[in-house]
Amino acid sequence: MDIRSHIRTVPDFPKPGILFYDISTLLAHAEAWKATVETLAEAVAPHKPDLLVGIESRGFLVAAPLALALGCGFAMVRKKGKLPGQTIRYTYDLEYGTDTVEIQADAITPGQRVVVLDDLLATGGTMAAAIHLLRSVGADVTAAAFILELAFLNGRDRLDVPAEVLVSYE
Ligand code: IMP
Repeated sequence: MDIRSHIRTVPDFPKPGILFYDISTLLAHAEAWKATVETLAEAVAPHKPDLLVGIESRGFLVAAPLALALGCGFAMVRKKGKLPGQTIRYTYDLEYGTDTVEIQADAITPGQRVVVLDDLLATGGTMAAAIHLLRSVGADVTAAAFILELAFLNGRDRLDVPAEVLVSYE
């Protein structure tokens, strides 16, 4: 299955000059999406996760079916203010301003092996922040995994865990 051919690019979204990589077309194609989840499951399994974590919001779409395929639990890293109960936050710098990610305080059992999922790796800032947050609540983060990476942005250099990627744009 040629997964790349099911990913659409949309020019000038969300701002003029930005080329947006859109996985809607991949999600909409039953066979291509099945192949995506199965191939990602093969790549992630060797990292022996106890739990998969998805980053809001497209990371949820990737992590949830993968957790079923691998027989793991699933937990969410969200933007601030969306999770009930006691939460732990981490605020990190963006090019302009800051952003905050959050997890429920009891989402991780300390020492649990965690693989973190998102749809796309660009600069790596989002994933690096999620990993920082997860470690602050005791996770043993063993890998990050993505459907696609924009390799020319060198996001892997910001990650200190292996990055599994199905499709790489040079
Ligand atoms: P980074 O923090 O620069 O690595 O950006 C990755 C985050 O931004 C991920 O959560 C992606 O979902 C989102 N993102 C950035 N560019 C795109 C894109 O072209 N398509 C889909 N998501 C994107």
